[in-house]
Amino acid sequence: LLNEQESMYIVSEFAKKYFQSTLFESEEGKAIGLTYFKERGFTNETIKEFGLGYSPDKWSAFTDEALGKGYSLEYLEKTGLTIVKEDKKFDRFKGRVMFPITSMSGRILGFGGRILTNDKKAAKYLNSPESDIYHKSKVLYGISHAKQEIAKQDNCFLVEGYTDVIQMYQAGVKNVVASSGTALTPEQIRLINRLTKNITMLFDGDAAGIRASFRGVDLILEAGMNVRVCSLPEGEDPDSFARKHTLEQLQSYFEENATDFIRFKASILMDEAKNDPIKKAELTRDIIASISKIPDNIQREIYVQECSRIMDISEEVLFNSLAQLNRKEI
Ligand code: ATP
Ligand code: MN
Ligand code: MN
Ligand code: MN
Repeated sequence: LLNEQESMYIVSEFAKKYFQSTLFESEEGKAIGLTYFKERGFTNETIKEFGLGYSPDKWSAFTDEALGKGYSLEYLEKTGLTIVKEDKKFDRFKGRVMFPITSMSGRILGFGGRILTNDKKAAKYLNSPESDIYHKSKVLYGISHAKQEIAKQDNCFLVEGYTDVIQMYQAGVKNVVASSGTALTPEQIRLINRLTKNITMLFDGDAAGIRASFRGVDLILEAGMNVRVCSLPEGEDPDSFARKHTLEQLQSYFEENATDFIRFKASILMDEAKNDPIKKAELTRDIIASISKIPDNIQREIYVQECSRIMDISEEVLFNSLAQLNRKEI
């Protein structure tokens, strides 16, 4: 199996280089792929740093090239780069711009490919399938580029997508990774935990994103990490926001708007519940459940005091509810 994985890494590395040279050197790559990245505001330096590429809009251009260079069909298929159907071979990422996904140490594990047309029927992003080297739940996009700065700043920004990471990085906020559209997993949290105990989540400016992220956060609290959240102005995602601002502006925006997660959740939920006592009771239990995940006693106590103020419920009632919850879990 070790040898197999090694062969899969090697073919993935070849693919990255192929997509890269196609982007910079072929007429099609320059006209379509490079133009696309330039329109998004990516510089050549950024495109190279992230190893971005282009996969030709032909059925098997990449696969033919790889086979011609002696790479075996077995590993092309195992990495998902090639799809074999009824003895015909197809490039999985035909006609897409390519985002290599790397491990902490910078090895290529898989790819994300973005479509360039506005075809609503086709998936906007296509990812490598799960394989012996690519486990979606264990990777964080951007981690190999961000790791040093995460440790140095002692904080990790968490965003949704590939382009959010790249645009933030280009703007100078380099301690940034993406969960790539899924809720954060325990394995992903462990990766960050090796570098820092502090996570700042950046949300798109819509409520849906905020509620969806609540789920992943309890896992971070359980790991004993500190979570802050920072909403962006309505209609912005980190990509569009970073593009419009200087590094200084971004830094002061994050500084002014990042809020402790529990505090943030308590005030959002209280806004929602307003004068509805049944809803308020339900949301209080929700907050208490989050607080109960925090391993540190003192920190838990401080949060209870703070939530008591925000939610206008006595500390005693909150502590009782916390104790009840702990009993139930034992
Ligand atoms: P863009 O700015 O290029 O339109 P985005 O990064 O803003 O893309 P979102 O739609 O916000 O894209 O999705 C966030 C992330 O979720 C993407 O970067 C990608 O990792 C993942 N994703 C989105 N759509 C799909 C899909 N159809 N299949 C798999 N992953 C997806
Ligand atoms: Mn989104
Ligand atoms: Mn987005
Ligand atoms: Mn976007």
